[in-house]
Amino acid sequence: MKFARVIVDQSGGTALDYAIPPEMEGRVQTGSRVAVPVRQRQAFATVIELLEESEVPGIRPLTKVVGDRPILSANLLRLARWMATYYCCPVETAMRAVLPQVIRKGNIGFKQRLAARLTREIDAALLAELERRAPKQAALVETLREAGASLPVVALLKAAGADRAALTALVRKGVVATESETIARDPHEGETFILAAPHPLNAEQTEVFAHVCAAIDKPEKPLLLHGVTGSGKTEIYLQGIQRVLDRGQSAIMLVPEIALTPQTVERLKSRFAAMQAEVAVLHSHLSEGERHDEWHKINNGQARIVIGARSAIFAPLENLGLIVVDEEHENSYKQEEAPRYHARDLAVLRGAFEKCAVLLGSATPSLESFHNATTGKYQLLRMALRVDDRKMPYIRIIDLRQESHGGETPSIISEKLRTAIDARLARKEQSILFLNRRGFSTSLSCNACGYVAACPNCSVSLTFHRAENRIVCHICGHTAIAPNKCPDCKAPGIKFSGVGTERVEEIVNKLFPKATIRRMDADTMTRKESYREVLTAFRTGKIDILLGTQMIAKGLHFPNVTLVGIVNADMGLHMPDFRAGERTFQLLTQVAGRAGRGDVEGEVFVQSFTPHHPAIQFARHHDYDGFAEQETEWRRQWDYPPFSKMVLITARSAHQERGKFSLETLHRRLKEVLPAHTTLGEPAPAPLEKSHGNYRFHLILRTRSIQKLTRVLSEVLEKLTFPEDVTVTVDVDPYQLL
Ligand code: ADP
Ligand code: ZN
Repeated sequence: MKFARVIVDQSGGTALDYAIPPEMEGRVQTGSRVAVPVRQRQAFATVIELLEESEVPGIRPLTKVVGDRPILSANLLRLARWMATYYCCPVETAMRAVLPQVIRKGNIGFKQRLAARLTREIDAALLAELERRAPKQAALVETLREAGASLPVVALLKAAGADRAALTALVRKGVVATESETIARDPHEGETFILAAPHPLNAEQTEVFAHVCAAIDKPEKPLLLHGVTGSGKTEIYLQGIQRVLDRGQSAIMLVPEIALTPQTVERLKSRFAAMQAEVAVLHSHLSEGERHDEWHKINNGQARIVIGARSAIFAPLENLGLIVVDEEHENSYKQEEAPRYHARDLAVLRGAFEKCAVLLGSATPSLESFHNATTGKYQLLRMALRVDDRKMPYIRIIDLRQESHGGETPSIISEKLRTAIDARLARKEQSILFLNRRGFSTSLSCNACGYVAACPNCSVSLTFHRAENRIVCHICGHTAIAPNKCPDCKAPGIKFSGVGTERVEEIVNKLFPKATIRRMDADTMTRKESYREVLTAFRTGKIDILLGTQMIAKGLHFPNVTLVGIVNADMGLHMPDFRAGERTFQLLTQVAGRAGRGDVEGEVFVQSFTPHHPAIQFARHHDYDGFAEQETEWRRQWDYPPFSKMVLITARSAHQERGKFSLETLHRRLKEVLPAHTTLGEPAPAPLEKSHGNYRFHLILRTRSIQKLTRVLSEVLEKLTFPEDVTVTVDVDPYQLL
């Protein structure tokens, strides 16, 4: 091989050819990182192909190979290329997602420390002499002799009570040698995991597990495990992973966002406590150094189990046997910046490339996945019962319209919910209260002139946060001191309306003065450790009522929680998003699923102004199939996904007219070249018209042939130039429609 085709970092993604100098031949492979000259400078690049010949005139040689082995496997390279085509982005952007920044740059290495060891046997005569002439040197020698191994220099000096000069003297004498050694940074340092044995599977689990094993032994199609909350899905994942390890293979387990599910990480770490070094954890809270070490631990084959959030789908494991996607319906699997990939879909694809089993699991599968299962693209597995005959929680709907006696606004915690919480407090059981909105009140307005405190950068009203006495924009973070009279008309009456978690906390504190109450939302969970602390306090019974946003909705398992209250179930229902109903159903089912996971049966109170909405009624009856059937029919009628593929194009600009004009131009171009079976919407202001100071316009396309559409789209976009201050983005399979 004489030439290498590479993609240069930070380039548009065009492939360039370079000659491989003879001395580097053999070391340059597909997936290698190299340094190349680009015009007058040097740049890093990734090799995507080796060539016998190149027709490029004036070809220049590579300058360097980085590292001693390729860092991108053929399958990951293939995944990156697929992403670029499917999600309509440059290959370079896709490759950026596949390789962590810290690895691409290569400017962080392993952590090194200096260690000292004795170079020879120490005889009594030497020691005696040292003790007489240089007691500190003697102490050092003594300490090393006792340790019988090398010691980190810092620890050695401390233990011996000696200084560096003494050590240097010993090195000069040839008695002691120092050398640097590599130490791994461990993100879970100081935590101990107690080995947890597998549970013997119950009847339903046994049947499901047989299918999982069959798929591991001979992968055919992805599996979708629909198991109600508490049916023991995690146990299936863990035993599946064990089986894969027994076969000498490796496994990836994706979880929605690691910060949100420390319990899952803990369960996995404990199950595999005996092989801690073979478990790698990848998530957004790692330091650069930790990420570097975890990545290399995977790439050099030391780690065989990877658990992580969406980007862990790119973990450079070899010989993959299983990819698990826990809570596959979760929106956080979708990346909201380029490349806008969906990790669940990439899991299915990578599984096909690697010829390994893929197991998607959820209590509320996404309609896309469920559709794939009912049409035979995936294999459907089900678990309808909770383990140990635990019952599904009983769900009561509280009609808030009837709570508003005589026209006054109903109280935020209804009478029935209050009584239920009281009963739990009396029995020393725990309650969870859920409200998907933080802050104290969601808007602040003037009764006299109608003024509303709105964000100057975004088209939303500001939320009042009482603890800081500030009004805050939840989109861009803009904040200001809360006014105590109207800034416009100077009237003294300022009205707070809408309820957030901070307000609920205050009300609950007043209603139950003796209870211990903790709030868990983005405002109270500011430190890295706070989440774990509160969960531990809750699990050990130090908290009676846990109140919070979606942070508490998912994946948590507390046996002593017998009551869940959903303060307002209607919150997400009226969003301008075709998934609004699905999201509400999922959220209610997941939140309700936190109740009754121990020996005592659970109860759920759902407060709502629209108690007859299908999403609420189906959730109440634990009827996933009923919901899926009705929702699927509705999507079919309106040609929404999964019946069509959707593409959302957004134009953003500080200049309203220019943003609008750019999208109109694109719209006109697209109209001329659109492939068949594609519908093109009209350019329109986005539901969130302005954000971070930019006006936003949307254009929605729906198609039955996404490949053709993205090809046409790329071509059109390549030829068009937009004004400099207009940003146009393409989102294939969008989840964020605001
Ligand atoms: P899911 O993930 O479906 O919500 P989990 O896997 O969290 O359910 O299981 C709920 C609880 O039941 C966990 O505490 C788990 O350890 C326990 N469990 C799971 N399988 C079994 C089993 N076969 N026998 C006994 N307990 C089990
Ligand atoms: Zn804002």
